[in-house]
Order: sequence, then structure tokens, then C-alpha cells
Amino acid sequence: MKSSTSDLYTLRPSPNIADADAIAQPPPVERLRGQIARGFATLRFEPGLERDFRRYLRYSGRISRASLIALSFVGMLVVLSVDRSVMQLPDVLLGPTRLLQVGVMMPAIVACGLFCWFRAESAAIEPTMLVLFAGMNIGMLGQRIVAAPYGFDVPAEMYGVTVVAMFSMARVRFRLMLPAALIGAVVAFVVELAVIRPPPNDYYHLFSASLLLAIGVMGGYSTEYFIRWTWLNGTLLRYLSRQDSLTGLLNRHALEEALDRAHEMARRERRGYALAMVDIDAFGAYNDHYGHQAGDTALRRIAGELGATVRRPLDVCGRFGGEEFVLLWWDADIAEAAALAEKVRQAIERARIAHEASQIAPWVTATVGLCHLHAADDRVELNQVLRRADELLYEGKNAGRNRVIEARYGVVSTERQRPLRHYA
Ligand code: GH3
Ligand code: MG
Ligand code: MG
Repeated sequence: MKSSTSDLYTLRPSPNIADADAIAQPPPVERLRGQIARGFATLRFEPGLERDFRRYLRYSGRISRASLIALSFVGMLVVLSVDRSVMQLPDVLLGPTRLLQVGVMMPAIVACGLFCWFRAESAAIEPTMLVLFAGMNIGMLGQRIVAAPYGFDVPAEMYGVTVVAMFSMARVRFRLMLPAALIGAVVAFVVELAVIRPPPNDYYHLFSASLLLAIGVMGGYSTEYFIRWTWLNGTLLRYLSRQDSLTGLLNRHALEEALDRAHEMARRERRGYALAMVDIDAFGAYNDHYGHQAGDTALRRIAGELGATVRRPLDVCGRFGGEEFVLLWWDADIAEAAALAEKVRQAIERARIAHEASQIAPWVTATVGLCHLHAADDRVELNQVLRRADELLYEGKNAGRNRVIEARYGVVSTERQRPLRHYA
């Protein structure tokens, strides 16, 4: 599936965890803040964040990886065309060198390039890049082995160059790249000392290769640390910019975006949905009686109750403004939605938030206007649905509050049948 840029700063609920677990997870902002506070010197986030970060790394590293593969390909073409003329490759080495270049290195580059082109977001992209690394190193080591007896020097620094290139451009996690680089280095050194046995004046070249290895490792660590830091902070910022700071629900801007998306999706998929506008009754009086801080606490508790009723990915719950909230239940028929709206009303009532100044009940209550949009009503705009839900809400207010008034869009409203209790 193709990612959009904003998706990359969104944490995905795991498809494998049960609903109950997903709900038990702390909200993203807390998880992100917790990770920033704990730090990530080991270059690993908590499992949920780590999974999403890896998706980001795969996607955001496309250009960098493509550049590395293109550079390797062009580099090979240049070597193939000038190694005899300019670099004076002896004729006797031509056969084995070509075998390694065309039989090992080029296939690794081409296979890796094709994989990155067609499966840019696959989880196998990191092992694929490591295959490229192995292919290049085997090729170079092989060339040094065959060239050594003839005094022809394929530069040892090339090991270091591939390590630096991998750490800086392959976008393979440091935790995978480091062991690969170290194994490569150990193999290369053993082969150098046991098989190639370079003359002492070549040790300088091995030393240079080692320095490049160290530069690659340090650069790789700091680059990944920086990428992780920017992703964590970017993702946190994205959530904060969409969250209502008092209740933790979607704020007005994010709510409108989510409603738009759900509405468009419903039109496209020919599904219906229900939109509920919830307004707390006599909340001005609550503030007057208990003070604004108590009012804020009550709003937070109510928001918690509302948030618990939306469970599916396209369901929406947000703060419309003040003490008004909007919920959308996607693909719910009118009976289902009416039952959910009634559940919302009851949940607020059951929270038993004392409200001595209310004329309606001794605790906080809410009125709900519920508008159901049938799949067949595909010419209706979201604004019209919102306006209708608002009208239904005010019908509920006029009818005495603490109730759900529901209607299919374009059809006359009905009050949900329920025994009304009188508290006064
Ligand atoms: P009704 O039953 O008709 O809805 O009456 P109401 O008093 O709830 O409605 P009104 O629109 O007159 O007042 C809404 C009140 O909600 C006014 C305001 O003090 C309060 N309110 C809005 N936002 C917040 C908030 O963020 N915190 C607190 N504490 N109160 C808020
Ligand atoms: Mg209001
Ligand atoms: Mg109100």
C-alpha cells in the first residue's frame, strides 16, 4: 500500500492486537512523550513506535537508496570501461576480474535495484541492501585476492568506501548495519593477513580502510539518531496539532478533517453513517455553581465516556467547541446508531457528575441530535448533515433536554423511546 506523507507521522494500530488491547494502550501523545523522555541511545523505540518508525525509514529512505544503487551501477560501468586502459589492469587478470564484476557485483546491484524499484516499502528492503553490501565486498575481496600475486593493487580503501556509503545512504538500521560491517571487516582482515599478505607499505591502506570504517559507524549512528529524533518530534507535533488540549479528543480542525474523510469514504463506498451532535445540558450553570476548573474536569470525564463509544477506524469523535462534541459512526444503520447515541447519553448520566444547579437532573446530562445519512443519499454534503444534527439537538433542548432526537436525513425526526425519569 502506498503511504502518503502525513501517514508517515501517524501511528497505526497494530492489526494483530485485539480491540481491548488497542484501547488499553496509552494515547499516542503519551507514548511519544514517554519515548522522548526515556531517550533512545540504543536506537530502538518501544515496540509500537519502532514498527511505525521502520515504515517511515523504509519510505523516507527511497531516494537515498536509489542514489546509492545508481552510484554503484555507474561506478561499475566506469570501472568496466576504463580498468584496462586507464587503470592498467593486466590482461592475465581480465578473466577473473570480469567474472567477479559481471558475475557477482553487477547482479547484486541490478537485483537490489529492481527490488527497491518494485517493492520500495517492503520489510525485506534492509536485507536486500545487505545483499548489495555483501556482493560488493565479495567482489572487491575476490579482486584483491586474484590481483595480489601480480602486484596489481585494487585499493583496500574500497572496503571502507562501501561501509561509509552503506551507513550514510542505504537507510538500513544501525543495529543491522553494524554487525554486517563488523563481520565484513573481520572477514576482510583475515583474508588480507592470511591469503593476500600485503607488503608492509600497504598497511597504510588498510589503516585508511579502518578509519573509513570508523567514520561510517560513527556517522551511521548519529544519522539514525537524528532521523529518529526528528520522526519522534514530528509525530508528536502532528498529534498535538490535532488534539484538543483539554479533553484529548480531536480538536475542531482535526475533527473537520476526519468527518470530511469519513463522509467522502461513505459516498465512494456507498455506505451510510450516523452523525451525533452532543451538547452538555446547563453547563453554563455548572460553571457558575462549581467554577471553571471543576467544569474542565467534568468535560474531561465526559470526553472519556464519548471516546469509548468509537471503536472502528473510520468512526470519529471530537470536540466541536465549548461543551459540544461530534461523533460519527461509520456504516452504522439507524437502529444501531440510535442505540449508540442512547448509550452515549446514558454513559454521561451514569458518570453521576453532581450538578446541583441543573433543572434536569441532580447530575450532568446531555442532549443528542442524531442524523443518519443513508447510503442512497449520496448528494448530501457534510455541512447539511451537520446542520441537520444541530437542528435535531435543538429540538431535544426544546423538548426538555437529556434525550436523543434522531432522524434519517430528509425525514422528520423521532424522539428515542425511553422512560423519562423526573428528578425534580
Ligand atoms: P444548554 O442546556 O442550553 O446547552 O445550556 P448551556 O449552559 O450548556 O449552554 P450555553 O451555550 O449557554 O453555555 C455553554 C457553557 O459551556 C458556557 C461555558 O462557560 C461552558 N464552557 C464552554 N467551554 C468550556 C470549557 O472549555 N471549560 C469550561 N469549564 N466550560 C466551558
Ligand atoms: Mg452549547
Ligand atoms: Mg450546553
